[in-house]
This record gives sequence, structure tokens and C-alpha cells, in this order.
Amino acid sequence: MRTIGLIGGMSWESTAGYYREINQAVRERLGGLHSAKIILYSVDFAPIEALQHSGDWQKTGKILANAARALEAGGADFFLICTNTMHKVADLVQPAVTIPLLHIADATGRKLQHKGVKKVGLLGTAFTMEEEFYKGRLQQQFGLEVVVPGSTDQQIVHDVIYQELCLGKINPSSRQQYLRIVGKLAEKGAEAIILGCTEIGMLISEKDVTLPLFDTTIIHATSAVEMALAGN
Ligand code: GLU
Repeated sequence: MRTIGLIGGMSWESTAGYYREINQAVRERLGGLHSAKIILYSVDFAPIEALQHSGDWQKTGKILANAARALEAGGADFFLICTNTMHKVADLVQPAVTIPLLHIADATGRKLQHKGVKKVGLLGTAFTMEEEFYKGRLQQQFGLEVVVPGSTDQQIVHDVIYQELCLGKINPSSRQQYLRIVGKLAEKGAEAIILGCTEIGMLISEKDVTLPLFDTTIIHATSAVEMALAGN
């Protein structure tokens, strides 16, 4: 079994989900008392969030590059950045180490392709919903048509992530807003929805909606297990 490196803490609420999903998947695959070999580097999210919103992505890249170096030095065979948004700086982090990054958008894109989805709705932070590093990657590398909410609804989705979900707050009124927005994406022709923020699965799940949901936390975590157990 390979050792999985996790850069987590963004937020820790979702990193806890990664830990559970990865270990559950290893238990399902190997049975008994088997569990995953994991090294977790969990950052302090407050300074990173401040740097994101002031636009100093270079500095966030340096912080994550240092975390990746520590994971490599600790013996990780490959690593994950446990947030969609911070893949904006993936190109600053990967060159800092020789172990490979399992990119969250690639794991998600592969899964959607496998399921035959062509047009998909994307929910996440404004960075994720709008920028090339994520939406563009899904379109260019996986041939997906990606639809996102209008600007007012994007702001709602973004604010709920930072002001509620990353703090572990689950508000029924925010769930209703998200479900309304999912309905609008369906009207725009989305066949499925990407929960493109690792905390959204805390708020909505398949039982709330009629469209298939692709939860990036679960997809990323199970892809990590496939990589860790490949050839086992
Ligand atoms: N966990 C979130 C994501 O998947 C948002 C927090 C962050 O900015 O990293 O995008």
C-alpha cells in the first residue's frame, strides 16, 4: 500500500471527511482491520483565506509548497490538496516536490466521463466556478460543458462556503438556497451537479435533489485509495 499525503485544513471540516472516506474505502477494499497509510499536513486556514481574498495567491502557493515538501520528506508517495479552490496554485506546488499531485479536477473529470455526463453544473467558490484552473480544465481536458450559477447566486454559494460551511455551520435556509440554485442549473440543461467545494456535501446530498451529485471530497478520496492500492 502506498502512503497518501494530504494537505488539509482548508477547511478542517472537510479534511475530517477525507480521513473518514479514505479509511472506509480501504476497509471496503482490504477488509478486517486494514486502514490507510496517511500523512496529514493540516494548515491554519485563516491566513490562507485572507491571502485568497486579497489576491496574494503566490504566497498561498509557497505555504502549500512547504507543506508538500514536508509530506515528501515524511515518506508520502503521492499527495492531495484537500480543497478545490487551492488547485489554483497547483502549478506552484507540484514543482516543489518529486511525488505526484492527484489533481481534484482530474479525478472528477475522469469520473464524469466514465458516467457519460456531457453537460454538468458546477458549485464551488467563486474562484472555482469562474476560473480556468478548474472550470477551464474540465472543459478543455475532459470535453465537458460546464454551467455555473449567475453572478448573484454565485455570491450566495461563495458566502455560504466561507461564512458557514468552513465553520461547521449547517443552515436549513442555506440548503434551500442551494437547492433553488441546483434547480436553475438543471433548467440550463445540467445533467448532473459537481459539488466542487469539499464542504458542500455537508449541506446537500442525493436525497435532496433529483440530479446525480458528484461530490469532489468523495471522488478525490476514493481516487486516492485506488492510487494507493494500485497493484496491491
Ligand atoms: N474547501 C473549499 C474548496 O473545496 C473552499 C475552501 C478553500 O478556499 O480552500 O474549494
